[in-house]
Amino acid sequence: MKATVDPDRCEGHGKCQAAAPEVFELRDDDLSHVLVDEIPETLRAKVERAVRLCPRQAITFG
Ligand code: SF4
Repeated sequence: MKATVDPDRCEGHGKCQAAAPEVFELRDDDLSHVLVDEIPETLRAKVERAVRLCPRQAITFG
């Protein structure tokens, strides 16, 4: 499972980082960056929560 953030949609709200700080990091460019290449099963629920909370539908997970 991989997660990606579309930089054209991301507006840096940081809800993804709040939901899954192990996976998403908001940086100085005001974009969320994915820290983990292959998402382990143990983080699936958190990433799915981040997808739901993202107000811009910027996260793809699958
Ligand atoms: S919640 Fe969505 S819009 Fe906000 S920083 Fe994360 S990916 Fe970007």
